[in-house]
Amino acid sequence: MRSLAAALTALALALPALPAAAQEKVLNIYSARHYQTDEALYADFSKASGIRINRVDADDAGILARLKSEGAASPADVILLVDAARLWRAEVDGLFQPVKSAQLDSRIPAHLRGKDDGAGSAWFGMSTRARVVVYDKQRIKREDVDSYAELADPKLKGQLCTRSGSHPYNVSLFGSMLERIGAERTEAWLKGLVDNMARAPKGGDTDQIKAVASGECAVAISNSYYVARLMRSAKPEDRAVVEKVGVVFPDQQSGGTHVNIAGAAVAKHAPHRDAAVRFVEYLASDSAQRHFADGNNEWPAVSGVKADNPALQALGDFKSEVLPISRIGMNQVRVQQMLDRVGYR
Ligand code: FE
Repeated sequence: MRSLAAALTALALALPALPAAAQEKVLNIYSARHYQTDEALYADFSKASGIRINRVDADDAGILARLKSEGAASPADVILLVDAARLWRAEVDGLFQPVKSAQLDSRIPAHLRGKDDGAGSAWFGMSTRARVVVYDKQRIKREDVDSYAELADPKLKGQLCTRSGSHPYNVSLFGSMLERIGAERTEAWLKGLVDNMARAPKGGDTDQIKAVASGECAVAISNSYYVARLMRSAKPEDRAVVEKVGVVFPDQQSGGTHVNIAGAAVAKHAPHRDAAVRFVEYLASDSAQRHFADGNNEWPAVSGVKADNPALQALGDFKSEVLPISRIGMNQVRVQQMLDRVGYR
């Protein structure tokens, strides 16, 4: 990930190119997505609408910091972020505006949208990713790691690897547990995870998968698209990594696997609001959904849209949780307090 300073510098450099005139047919997008396939997505929209897109790329933290410092003068129209916890944070910080759209309401399932108090949702999930368990096929039996609860079982002592507990992907998973099993059991579960660590949390999800393949750990947690990315990699050493590990969608017999989103929102002070809504609606179209999801090996948020992706096909169908993503985002403060108490860095 790029540093905040680097992201802000990149944004500052990109800004003078952004036109201010509201009547111009342009759309300013701040995006935390950096995938080659997204280029085709933007080009298709411009061709169909005649609206030129200016894009500012940064990481999530850089975008949120920039929006805050720009305030009402911000040229941002559409914001693309990954992770429910970040989308919820931005909504609470007043960086988005609600959108009432019959098209979006019918296309994007209610549990993958921001809470709608009548004025519309402040953000819309466009693709989903699952938080899966990866395990060493030599040392671990699949049935011993097919639920999130079991990851805290003492039978896995010294075998678990994860990235930082306070990374948004984990905070969202833990927020989902909080919804499902309550505060007391969630904190005990988090303590159990800490007790089972093979080493202190570090690295990203791909590092955890590689650590299982190398034998440093026997079980790890990862977002599904990192597994799919290794499966589709042109490098034989990447494919060798996934061949060594088993992948399981946890909680198939209970609440379903935890699912997170990448989403879109209209900025609070969007100078081109109509074009912004039109673009977000476009992202929910069949063709955009396929692009949007396929570029990062995610699943389309719109049901019935099938991504043509061999890695996703290999991972197979699964039962996902249907908790409102907004409730999970809301739990992040309590989760962070628990992480501090149990020493999960
Ligand atoms: Fe990621």
